[in-house]
Amino acid sequence: MELCGAHTRTILQCGIDEMLADNIQIVHGPGCVISITPLNIIDRAFAVAYEPDVTMCVFGDMLRVTGTRNDLLEAKASGADVRVVYDAATCVELAKEHPERKIVYFSVGSERLLPGCAASLLEAKQLGLKNYFVLSSQANMSTICSGVLQRHSGQIDAVLASGTSCSVVGFKDYETVSKQFNIPIIVSGVEPLEVLESLYKSIVQLENGRSVVENQCPGFVSRSGNSEQQSLINQAFRLMDFEWRRLGTIANSGFQLREELDGFNAWTAFHSEPKPAHESAMCISEEIMLGLKKPADCPAFGKHCTPHRPVGATMVSSDGTCALYHKFRTAQQDQEQEQKKDSSAVFS
Ligand code: SF4
Repeated sequence: MELCGAHTRTILQCGIDEMLADNIQIVHGPGCVISITPLNIIDRAFAVAYEPDVTMCVFGDMLRVTGTRNDLLEAKASGADVRVVYDAATCVELAKEHPERKIVYFSVGSERLLPGCAASLLEAKQLGLKNYFVLSSQANMSTICSGVLQRHSGQIDAVLASGTSCSVVGFKDYETVSKQFNIPIIVSGVEPLEVLESLYKSIVQLENGRSVVENQCPGFVSRSGNSEQQSLINQAFRLMDFEWRRLGTIANSGFQLREELDGFNAWTAFHSEPKPAHESAMCISEEIMLGLKKPADCPAFGKHCTPHRPVGATMVSSDGTCALYHKFRTAQQDQEQEQKKDSSAVFS
């Protein structure tokens, strides 16, 4: 099982899963953090974007993420001030330049984004800004890995973990997970050859009866990670139990702002309460994120549920498993059908 949406993209885009021997099956885990971000958080961002004097700042990939009814691009089109930013520091600059606006940074992701977000909060505190807020949904991937494995009864033989996340926090926490579940965990880069090498490393471990954490990308990942970035994270965030979309509550799996930064917490600063969100009964994304099913097993896939009108968690993000299957496998099938048509036209 790969845990990271970027790995899923590489595997499907290059057809790595289809090249492997029949007795090796790749299943997809929770993937992109956007996929597991609770619907009520996305709805909350939408509601906050409409509050007076608010400027909502997001990364480009969040614009088309749909909540219960709409996405932020539609909010922007209907008059809300929604802006695409490339880092959290830009939001602090906006807050300094526009004291009359309330600048909200909607931050969704894994550990990779945390140092920048933490630095922005500490700078805002130092400057005494009163108009900068963070709406945060940030994941601690090693505990999410543990939560996913707990829901299995030993069907997962090996895990690929995200090298990008581990470049910040290191991989020592995965050592506990590997021991607990007695499985190899390979910290992997996202390039095709890196993923192939990680698969190879996991198979060699399984053939030799070993279950340890191995680092496929020592060039940018170390066991203990980046201490400077971790220091920033620890000054701004603390771990908390978090309820993830379709995965339920996992202990210590999310990062929340520390109490001393409460004034910057959009959760408490804004009181817009969206209507309670309901998941579609036809969606099987929970089984997909646990690696128990694939998108093609869902009757809604490509019919009622598409990247343009997503029904469930794994279709909302462009790196969600259903969205990636829709992009690569549907396109591939279309191409194969076209080729068949062409060849039958030649023979007729
Ligand atoms: S195709 Fe849509 S409805 Fe089906 S599992 Fe995926 S996200 Fe859910």
